[in-house]
Amino acid sequence: MLNQLLFLVAKRFVSGQTIQEAVAAVQRLNARGIGATLDVLGENVTDRRAAEAAVAAYLETLGWIQQESLSSNVSLKLTQMGLDIDRDYCLVNVARICERAAAGNNFVRIDMEGSAYTERTLRLFCELFQKHQNVGIVIQAYLHRSEQDVRRLIELGARVRLCKGAYKEPPSLAVQAMAAVRQNFMSLASLLLSQGNHPAIATHDDVLLSWTKNYIAQHQVPKEGFEFQML
Ligand SMILES: Cc1cc2nc3c(=O)[nH]c(=O)nc-3n(C[C@H](O)[C@H](O)[C@H](O)COP(=O)(O)OP(=O)(O)OC[C@H]3O[C@@H](n4cnc5c(N)ncnc54)[C@H](O)[C@@H]3O)c2cc1C
Repeated sequence: MLNQLLFLVAKRFVSGQTIQEAVAAVQRLNARGIGATLDVLGENVTDRRAAEAAVAAYLETLGWIQQESLSSNVSLKLTQMGLDIDRDYCLVNVARICERAAAGNNFVRIDMEGSAYTERTLRLFCELFQKHQNVGIVIQAYLHRSEQDVRRLIELGARVRLCKGAYKEPPSLAVQAMAAVRQNFMSLASLLLSQGNHPAIATHDDVLLSWTKNYIAQHQVPKEGFEFQML
């Protein structure tokens, strides 16, 4: 019952409970000219069997994307790939998914989790990016450290999704007031839109959406040079 209740609450963001339902949801979006990213939900696995099941689910998802010629990539969480079990094991798991994605000319996004994982996620991403150029990362605008991270990722030529940040973080690590989060978001978005590699502006916030539209018009950012993302 709890599962059913949680599914009802989350339904708005969940494309399906089976891969076939997810494929149909992506097809509906693609028919409207909207690309997708598929996340196989899960995080913080503590045993290898669960991590391997998640890897298998992603490999299967990439297979479906290729077979059905969907305009979709995948997004994943490192703690779902075994980051809490062993860092190198996690790296190998994600590398397998990147290789499978590359074989279908596809892309893998590493979601950003709570601040306990920020540094480890970025380090693992940078290592992975040396071998797999088809992997991207997420930066959370609320973190104080994010400007430094964005500048480094721009230098690397990595693709960044910018979001506000979804976790409860202390004031020592993250700005708290909505106005300040928006201010950070705009300053990071302007860096990414002017110097980044195909940034993704991930927000439902009308203020930030309007700001981005004005920015791209004023700075003549080509429409194919960035994307908006929503849940
Ligand atoms: C594509 C995508 C990927 C993300 N990946 C990550 C990640 O890797 N790590 C991470 O920490 N966070 C991630 N987030 C979540 C993000 O950090 C925010 O917590 C979340 O997007 C809410 O912030 P907002 O910018 O939409 O603004 P808010 O201020 O929360 O919302 C602005 C307005 O949009 C409405 N709204 C909020 N959510 C939705 C929705 N789903 N659909 C329609 N309207 C909505 C609100 O009711 C409000 O009116 C992601 C968000 C998106 C869109």
